[in-house]
Amino acid sequence: MAWGGGWGGGGGGGMFGGPAGAGSNGLPFGGIPTELMDGVNKILATEPEHAPADITFTQIPSAAEKRRLTLPRLLRVYPGMLVSGSVLVILISLLLQAGPTLTDIAVNHGMVPGHHSLTVVAVCAGLYLVIAVASAMLQRVQVGVTGRLASRVMHDLRIRVFTHFQRLSLDFFTEEKAGVLMSRMTSDIENLQQLIQDGISQFALQGLTMIVIIVILFTLNVTLAAWTVLLIVPVLTVLTIWFHISSEKGYLRSRDGIANVLGDLSESLYGVRVVTANNRQRRNIKNHQQFVGAYRDANLYTGRVNAIYGPTTIMIGMLGQALLLGIGGDMVIRGKLTPGALIAFFLYLNRFFGPIQLLVQQYNLLQQGRSSVIRLRELLLDPPSVDEKPDALTLAPIDGRITFEHVSFGYDPANLVLHDVDLEIAPGESVAFVGPTGAGKSTMAKLVTRFYDPTIGRVLVDGIDIRDVTLHSLRSQLGVVPQEAFLFAGSIRTNLSFGREAITDDEIEEAIDVVGLRELIDRLPQGVDTIVHERGQTLSAGERQLLALARAFLARPRVLILDEATSSLDLRSETVIERALDRLLEGRTAILIAHRLTTAQRADRIVVIDQGGVVEMGTPSELVTRGGVYAGMYSAWLASGGRDADAGSVA
Ligand code: ADP
Repeated sequence: MAWGGGWGGGGGGGMFGGPAGAGSNGLPFGGIPTELMDGVNKILATEPEHAPADITFTQIPSAAEKRRLTLPRLLRVYPGMLVSGSVLVILISLLLQAGPTLTDIAVNHGMVPGHHSLTVVAVCAGLYLVIAVASAMLQRVQVGVTGRLASRVMHDLRIRVFTHFQRLSLDFFTEEKAGVLMSRMTSDIENLQQLIQDGISQFALQGLTMIVIIVILFTLNVTLAAWTVLLIVPVLTVLTIWFHISSEKGYLRSRDGIANVLGDLSESLYGVRVVTANNRQRRNIKNHQQFVGAYRDANLYTGRVNAIYGPTTIMIGMLGQALLLGIGGDMVIRGKLTPGALIAFFLYLNRFFGPIQLLVQQYNLLQQGRSSVIRLRELLLDPPSVDEKPDALTLAPIDGRITFEHVSFGYDPANLVLHDVDLEIAPGESVAFVGPTGAGKSTMAKLVTRFYDPTIGRVLVDGIDIRDVTLHSLRSQLGVVPQEAFLFAGSIRTNLSFGREAITDDEIEEAIDVVGLRELIDRLPQGVDTIVHERGQTLSAGERQLLALARAFLARPRVLILDEATSSLDLRSETVIERALDRLLEGRTAILIAHRLTTAQRADRIVVIDQGGVVEMGTPSELVTRGGVYAGMYSAWLASGGRDADAGSVA
């Protein structure tokens, strides 16, 4: 059993009988009642073994991953299922058409007046039964095979797309893209699943069925078959295509319609206070009426299209049969056709209309699947903007010297945010970036972690251009504490161990003491195993900051980049954080994006940044006495009582 490993990400003890509450924030776990234990053991015995996957991640995709995504390539990974699925589809489409031929034989050889043969009739009926059962069973197997194939392929594809997301650079994940990316992972992948599970096999099955039936029709009687194929089929096909286009249009209209209705509804629900306060109720109802009206019209349209198509196809089918009955009946009377063959012909004819309709439907699925493949392919072909060189070196343990060499940078290269920045930070030195909001402080930090590459110039670590080393070896030596500490769903322990694998309990305890989280941990019901997550606002802003600091402490980076939280903390939290920072910065190179001048004052050096360039630089005392920009900020800060001032907004 691979139970313990996957549970709560290595939280406390095992699943059963482990320490109270190893993995939940509800009541403590009291063990399994003895009367249920038998049942539990039974379930566990049949539980599939999910060994932890052995994942290797490289920034440079493998040759297989680099290949263009196509449906055949996805399917070819499972040749066994692919071949057996195809063979089954062929067998089924043949078996399904045996019935009318057996009827033909039974009528012509078992029921001819004067030559009755119960044996022939019985054999035909028996065979019919066997074939019916056999084809039902084969279909069951086939649906199972294609279902398994689809699940496997989708699993592979999801992992592949997710891996690609992990490789992509930060610029890819801007706000407006999040929705698109989600839909790639949901609707596009589901479209493909549909296609593989049902679409392809149904398309093949219906296509083959039509071919088989056409062949049989021609062997039964060429004249009748020719009438069918040349007259009835084209009329039906045209009608079906018309229906298809119209109902697609109707479907789109009603989908938009319901989206508008729901959108308007949720807006007026969320905004109910504003609505009421502004006396908008009447106007709102009028507004909503319009959306509901459009939705109703779309549904009426779809209803009309359906009302035309259904009865018309039935009518065409019947007219065709009447025509064929006339022609065929005449042939039977003149001895050119046996009655059995005519009956068989009619039976096949009825089976002929279904596939035409289904084929058109499946064609739609096929189209959707195809465009999903194309969209996913384009996504996978989108290269990371910050990529690793194929011959990138592994960065050896660094001293922590950071150099900006004539760095200019713009998120959009045509619109520079940093202008020709030169800066050198010595190993072990802590440097505070201060300056107004939007000056470019965070941007400079992002260039050090290689979230982006400079447009012009170089960023060096220990004299090595960071574009020449692997992303992993670079980032494993840099610690980043963002402004908003992000908490992943899981225990505090898993959140703390985020930056490095194999962190021992002792190290975690040490980190908790160092950053001053002991009091919080003692207060929580399950200590470090308490579950936290991003939405759960169980932790205060200050506590989240401390968690982020502890996370960085455990990652043991050589260089620390800290984007100080702008939200003001109470005095006590601030003192705790200052103390934690002192411990964290010991012997490390640090870049502090300081919003509080208390933090800036503790740094070895202050760099004042404004409008994308360094305007002042020196030790805190130097800058205060120099009487420049920083001295102005400092005296304003002192005047406000040395608190409450945001270094960013003072300047
Ligand atoms: P600071 O950290 O000093 O407040 P930033 O480095 O965050 O300033 O921003 C510098 C400039 O770059 C600002 O004008 C900001 O609007 C712009 N900027 C920041 N992030 C992005 C981004 N992802 N895409 C485009 N422009 C950005």
